[in-house]
Amino acid sequence: MRYVIDPPVQAAVPVAGTDAAFPVRRVYCVGRNYAAHAREMGHDPDREPPFFFMKPADALVVGGADMPYPVATADLHHEIEMVVALGKGGRDVPVESANDLIWGYGVGLDMTRRDIQGEAKKLGRPWDMGKGFDKSAPIAALRPVTATGLIENAAIWLDVNGVRRQASTLKALIWSVPETISYLSGLVELHPGDLILTGTPEGVAAVGRGDVLHGHVDGLTDLEVRIV
Ligand code: MN
Repeated sequence: MRYVIDPPVQAAVPVAGTDAAFPVRRVYCVGRNYAAHAREMGHDPDREPPFFFMKPADALVVGGADMPYPVATADLHHEIEMVVALGKGGRDVPVESANDLIWGYGVGLDMTRRDIQGEAKKLGRPWDMGKGFDKSAPIAALRPVTATGLIENAAIWLDVNGVRRQASTLKALIWSVPETISYLSGLVELHPGDLILTGTPEGVAAVGRGDVLHGHVDGLTDLEVRIV
């Protein structure tokens, strides 16, 4: 095929300790997947099935690059999340075999223009401009499941300028990783190259220019990003 313009660059995330990269197809995000975070956002965590939104693949910020403070917001929030990278796809994947789709894991941030998202919630409008803006998804180098084993009971935390802002454990996920994969695969067909941001624990708050965010999940490569 001869394209009439240069084709878009393939989004990709570096693989820790190698010169290889994981090519990214889609970026799915789970909403309100930790009970304490659902409560801090004003919701009852017990009665909600998982729900999803997306970010564009080219919103990823990789390789330790800075994140520019985005336009059109005065309330940029951090949401630390474990990222699952799929090496296989499927539809209607049973929970029991959902872990077979996992290629590896990473530490990511679901950066959020909370003011725009809040307005969208109030008006019943889509979240895209609150969640899927340019450079809204800093992510650390991925580690393959062959190196880490399944990540199921790990601590997850985020420091801002050396102060702990979010801290929890993946045990606190309302919907586990295999449950999330299984449920999502009943809504859309999953493919190799898909990423899933698995939700954020409580403690989300605003950041500004000059802040340094340090995210961690046990067993994975730490994420460090500066807002500029
Ligand atoms: Mn999130």
